[in-house]
Amino acid sequence: MHTLMDPPSKTTGSCLKCGATYANSHMGTHLARCHGAGDALHLVITGGGNTWWMHLAARPTTTLRDLDHHLRATWLECCGHLSSFTINGVPYEEIDPDADFSWYSAAPRSVAARLTKVLAVGSTFDYVYDFGSSTELDGRVRGTIAAGKRKITLLAQNAPIAWACAACGGPATRACGCCQALRCAPCCDQGQRCDCFDDADEGWLPVVNSPRVGVCGYEGPHAG
Ligand SMILES: [Zn+2]
Ligand SMILES: [Zn+2]
Ligand SMILES: [Zn+2]
Ligand SMILES: [Zn+2]
Repeated sequence: MHTLMDPPSKTTGSCLKCGATYANSHMGTHLARCHGAGDALHLVITGGGNTWWMHLAARPTTTLRDLDHHLRATWLECCGHLSSFTINGVPYEEIDPDADFSWYSAAPRSVAARLTKVLAVGSTFDYVYDFGSSTELDGRVRGTIAAGKRKITLLAQNAPIAWACAACGGPATRACGCCQALRCAPCCDQGQRCDCFDDADEGWLPVVNSPRVGVCGYEGPHAG
């Protein structure tokens, strides 16, 4: 794990209600028991297979737009790129009324749709943020579960990955946005850098707990 190109294939995380730790494959069963039955959708969102993952409870009034905002705020938003859900082959996007969709194989529908209108228990969907340096996520409705007070409640997520500095093996805190090399701050500051940029301070991004780590200008969740 000395470069972002080599992420762990699976990770563990903790239930935010009781603190119990599981791999993603067992977290769903735990959360269903820990939170109990309800009318919220239990969503599982993954990036890179089982490397980055989130379990969410979404109340029945939640729209795809709400989910898009949640994913941007917690995992993705760098510079306001476009995003899209695909459900049963149909794209759902923020619709520009002036856009020409004649070249699309399927015209996109609006993300104003409620999750309960377009997804059911067992449904899967794809999500992409940024059509250039894309971050692609997979989504699944695992079942129903007791809802939190908010439209979307985070139930559990993978713990931060222990990336290692490629120069000294210590904990990495910076990633090169070009070659995905990892460094700790002391090694970086002592000149142990990659050859991607002439300016020594250019191109390094903070190592954050997100499938978008080291991509474009992503620096972690924004406040609000
Ligand atoms: Zn729990
Ligand atoms: Zn960006
Ligand atoms: Zn180091
Ligand atoms: Zn580099």
